[in-house]
Amino acid sequence: MNLILLGPPNAGKGTQAKKLFADFHIPQISTGDILRKAVAEGTELGKVAGPLMAAGQYVPDEVVIGIVEERLKQSDVAQGFVLDGFPRTPGQADALERMLGRLGKQLDAVVSLEVPHTTLVERGSGRRVCPVDGSVYHVDQSPPKRAGYCDKCGTGLVQRPDDMPDVIEKRLQKYDAETAPLKAFYAKKGVLKSVDGVGSPDGIYEEIKSAAGRGKV
Ligand code: AMP
Repeated sequence: MNLILLGPPNAGKGTQAKKLFADFHIPQISTGDILRKAVAEGTELGKVAGPLMAAGQYVPDEVVIGIVEERLKQSDVAQGFVLDGFPRTPGQADALERMLGRLGKQLDAVVSLEVPHTTLVERGSGRRVCPVDGSVYHVDQSPPKRAGYCDKCGTGLVQRPDDMPDVIEKRLQKYDAETAPLKAFYAKKGVLKSVDGVGSPDGIYEEIKSAAGRGKV
């Protein structure tokens, strides 16, 4: 199963990609996660990407296209993949088509998670992460036992720079201007499925599976 999860920041793409991996063993390819790791490790890629990410800007197309092409060549994606956060621009969508053609792969579905703007801002601005073990909390929806501290290791929780309210707004504007038009691109190809991204993660997951042509596992 070769899928794209399309949706604005905080739509729940990462959560759903992890569920798909657990059931179908198809790797999540998250360009955001790959870039965050590069920033944390201080690599050349991280030095280019870090300031752009912190400002809510996109990393240049040629950089992310190269990352995805390398990843799609690895053997663990032979049975499928879930792209999360890529493509984000028409240039990336065109490049993905060419790359899939070269690799002899085809998209099965592009699932667009639909979530209202206000919900996206609430989800992002309340998120807190543990800088040590990566645990994720939300100040209202999934708070830690002791406010501000990780349940697992006791480290003080932090807000990711790209979860700051002004940066979230910029990311949403960028999504509307540059990424939302991809829905029309994939609708024309007959692979776009829209799913309501508000509700319980398990309920949304069932919708995604049926949109992707998979029933219960
Ligand atoms: P995400 O975790 O997918 O929201 O990505 C976090 C940040 O990484 C984005 O706000 C961008 O700065 C950058 N990024 C991730 N994927 C892409 C992409 N496909 N194209 C450009 N920038 C990206």
